[in-house]
Amino acid sequence: MGNPRYANGNLRRKYRARMRAISAECGICGGRLGPIHYNEPSDARHPLSFVIDEIKPVSRWKEFGYDSPRAAAEDWNNLQAAHYCCNAAKSNKTPGREPQIIKRIIIHDGNW
Ligand SMILES: [Zn+2]
Repeated sequence: MGNPRYANGNLRRKYRARMRAISAECGICGGRLGPIHYNEPSDARHPLSFVIDEIKPVSRWKEFGYDSPRAAAEDWNNLQAAHYCCNAAKSNKTPGREPQIIKRIIIHDGNW
């Protein structure tokens, strides 16, 4: 069994295109970090790049009444656009998900 999120790549691509078309804001920070950079590759070097976030974690599909993990991963109402960094931070806090390595962001706040 593979990752349910990638079971239907075409559908995920379609969702991505739809979010991009409406310039959806990040559902996790609510746009606090600014608009999503839809043109950048989704990786740790582009923290504001676009990823699809599952509002209800796919790993807990049974709890949320889905028939399968795939059903949770493909439910448009369960998906929102998000920044790469917001999604990574959320994933790290959600139990049952594999932790993701994110690049530590060093904040320089001047001389103390
Ligand atoms: Zn965000």
